[in-house]
Amino acid sequence: MSVPRPKLTIATCSLAGCFGCHMSFLDVDEALADLIDHIEFDRSPLTDIKHVNPQGVDIGLIEGGLCNAENVEVLREFRARCKVLVAVGACAMYGGVPALRNGIPVSELVAEAYLGSDLLNPQVPQDPELPPLLQKVLPLHEVVPVDYTLAGCPPPAAAFKELIMAQLENRAPERPPQARRFD
Ligand code: SF4
Repeated sequence: MSVPRPKLTIATCSLAGCFGCHMSFLDVDEALADLIDHIEFDRSPLTDIKHVNPQGVDIGLIEGGLCNAENVEVLREFRARCKVLVAVGACAMYGGVPALRNGIPVSELVAEAYLGSDLLNPQVPQDPELPPLLQKVLPLHEVVPVDYTLAGCPPPAAAFKELIMAQLENRAPERPPQARRFD
């Protein structure tokens, strides 16, 4: 009798992203039903688990770049606890749309957003729970080593499926040109 293979554990999160990459992952649709016998979600917006299992998980999928100190903290936890860390989509790989702010000093951005003369009660939010903004939006690889990337905005569902199947089959994922999509 063959011993059942342990499930592949997967953590996901969105940092400075729009959740479009997560939506694309869910576009795996009926294939997710096939995969679900072989995978188990850990920390993820899909489970509402807030931290990656300290015992570690097999794959960490991160969409979005780094725009504040909390993003960096979350990324470091993923790096420490995920065997394979994947930068998912243009924002995680390059900074993406949020990085359009990189040419403007943070003080100017904050003043524009919160201190405009047309605002009723202009003030900069001071809640200590608000994480400080980074001076620039950074891609993941500028802070921790990344093992793999899924290109696109968002990457197509098939790219997620291929990544997971490759891990299950202990082989390198295939990356055909159609695995990149920029809608
Ligand atoms: Fe959204 Fe595109 Fe960034 Fe993914 S890569 S988080 S879809 S903007």
